Amino acid sequence: MTTDYGNYIDGDWTESSSGDTFAVRNPANENEIVATYQQSTGDDANHAVEAAVATQDEWAATPAPERGRILKRTAGVLDARKDELTETLTTEEGKTLAEAGGEVQRAIDIFDYYAEKTRDLGGTMKGTSAENKQLYTKRESLGTVSLITPWNYPIAIPAWKLAPALATGNTVVLKPASAAPGVSLKLVECLEEAGLPAGVVNYVTGSGSDVGTPLTEHGAVDAVSFTGSTAIGTMVAQTATEDLKRVQCEMGGKNPTVVMPSADLDEAVDIVGSGAFGVTGQACTACSRAIVHEDVYDEFVAGIVDYAESLEIGDGTTDVDMGPHVTESELEGTLEYVDIGLEDGATLETGGDRLTGDEYDDGYFVEPTVFSDVHADMRIAQEEVFGPVLAVLSVSDFEEAVAVANDVDFGLSASIVTDNLSEGHQFIENVESGVAKVNEKTTGLELHVPFGGYKGSSTNTYREQGDAGLDFFSSIKTAYLNY
Ligand code: NAP
Repeated sequence: MTTDYGNYIDGDWTESSSGDTFAVRNPANENEIVATYQQSTGDDANHAVEAAVATQDEWAATPAPERGRILKRTAGVLDARKDELTETLTTEEGKTLAEAGGEVQRAIDIFDYYAEKTRDLGGTMKGTSAENKQLYTKRESLGTVSLITPWNYPIAIPAWKLAPALATGNTVVLKPASAAPGVSLKLVECLEEAGLPAGVVNYVTGSGSDVGTPLTEHGAVDAVSFTGSTAIGTMVAQTATEDLKRVQCEMGGKNPTVVMPSADLDEAVDIVGSGAFGVTGQACTACSRAIVHEDVYDEFVAGIVDYAESLEIGDGTTDVDMGPHVTESELEGTLEYVDIGLEDGATLETGGDRLTGDEYDDGYFVEPTVFSDVHADMRIAQEEVFGPVLAVLSVSDFEEAVAVANDVDFGLSASIVTDNLSEGHQFIENVESGVAKVNEKTTGLELHVPFGGYKGSSTNTYREQGDAGLDFFSSIKTAYLNY
């Protein structure tokens, strides 16, 4: 039997005022409805904001270590329910159980991390220009914040916004992506079970226009933290700043890995292949461009084609390397880019088709795809594809590699594979990207360091994660105390 899930407003699981729900289907088998969720309205969103505002003062006044105890307990409840949440994630979003389990673990670790951080919240005492005076800073809660999240990391991203928001004493309304809301709903259940007071976190499902827009516009919301596409994020940033809300939008990417002749080519193929095809290429940090030195180009292309063709594709709950696309429209978007690549004159080395037959017919499965002979100005080298499609470009030296890496409107994550220390350092210095890596895939982040993009990948206002997460969700007051 399909479960009908409610919104969570002021500590109650409620139905939307619309009386409507929407169904989420298993991307590995579209005949299976995983669950249904509230098709919420602007009124529902506004009630959620009102509930968050009403609880704000009390939550902000709760001693930070007490808030931290609730976060710690949440990590414990998440851990106890890890297998269930992992399965929910796979059956709604499609990634493999191994990938989903890693993501749920990330959420657990994030709650643990920010629970510890609550003991260190405070400020800085500074020297003064006069006697009998204290000059210090003090960190305060921002107030009520809206969190709007995408489907591709449906628990990690809500967790990396919720945990620092709560640690710093804010109250929250969370709107998850409609394609995969289940695992963040279960995260809210875990917060409730851990003893979070009613109204501190409110959760509303529904469309971006019906729920996301009011959460961005509402006059009582102090800040909006959004992760998603550059097109929507740009609109969200413009709307949120109309009344000077604090806003951060983390958005799309077109992430390169440069491969130099000194690299161990087997290692380079593994780095590029896992970055490009892991999580079905549906990562903002996925490698979508391999920028390869001409001396090793042919050998690299042969290696990455073998890598792509070796991947086992199927239902993420079975023992496979790559699951389906999340929805049919995402699958169609990828196939459209395959056509665009062909029209622009790139060479399709492998993949490019929807998988059919037997277990594939009812799911959104696509072959891992490699294009060679890609030029920097082709659309598949410039635009975010958001699927397992790799464009391989040839360059003749390091300087050209960096110039090509930078020649896009995005700047989220970039890496180089090289055995030359000087190239590694120069790459970090010169690449226009919020994350720069040497001998590592573009995907994969540590949770305690800042994350965010340059250029069209971010509003470049605040970073997320680590201490940067605390900075976004708090204000700094400077105190001048004469005595
Ligand atoms: P999306 O279509 O932009 O949606 C993101 C969120 O915004 C969803 O919750 C969506 O709701 C909501 N939304 C849609 N229209 C809105 C509006 N007018 N006002 C307010 N909210 C609105 O992105 P997605 O397809 O879920 O996610 C994929 C994108 O996210 C990719 O571009 C990827 O690169 C990016 N991403 C970036 C990062 C990063 O940290 N830089 C991380 C992960 C993903 P509905 O689902 O109901 O439409």
